[in-house]
Amino acid sequence: MEECLICGSKTKMVEDKQLKLSYALCQRCGFIYKDKAVHLNLEAEHNQYLTHNNSFESEGYVKIFVDLIRDHIKPLNISGKILDFGSGPGPVLKTLLVQNGFDAFDYDPFFNRNEAYLSKKYQLITCTEVAEHFTNPISEFKLLTSMLEDKGYLLIMTKFRTMSLDEFMNWWYRRDRTHVSFYTPESLEEISKQCGLSIVYNNKINIMIFQK
Ligand SMILES: [Zn+2]
Repeated sequence: MEECLICGSKTKMVEDKQLKLSYALCQRCGFIYKDKAVHLNLEAEHNQYLTHNNSFESEGYVKIFVDLIRDHIKPLNISGKILDFGSGPGPVLKTLLVQNGFDAFDYDPFFNRNEAYLSKKYQLITCTEVAEHFTNPISEFKLLTSMLEDKGYLLIMTKFRTMSLDEFMNWWYRRDRTHVSFYTPESLEEISKQCGLSIVYNNKINIMIFQK
């Protein structure tokens, strides 16, 4: 039996006979990880992202970030650098941050592989609709933590799995073929401990802010 990628506890295999795939469900922190055998290869993953409508053309997509900046980023009083990690082809959030007077950069492993940005330090790193794509969450979160200044913030937006397993099996969010990691608030708490971060905000739905 596989161990949980987050907390190392025992997992239980959960099968979806319809989609013909399985998940490892952690018995302790509730993290759910899609069977590696059905993860997309990098090329297929890239092609899938190209079909997402994540641009300024999509009003709903832009509004999410306008609201995020107003409600969650401005209150942090950031005066230093901001990195949007996993910005996608847009990069919508970075552009809006710059328009709002922030010193913002974006990095994306598929669309903007500017490695130099990974060796800088940031007062805030945003990671929106990205963590569900992580194939190795702990090492990704540790990388992000290493790029934070002391007292810097990490803002994560990913839909938390707060529903039962039955509801999870009917959840549209898991049907995206590029989504492989599904976090409960408990699993994010475990991640924060392992990375030496404290949780300063949790809306219990999809946004958590950590501080180094
Ligand atoms: Zn776990």
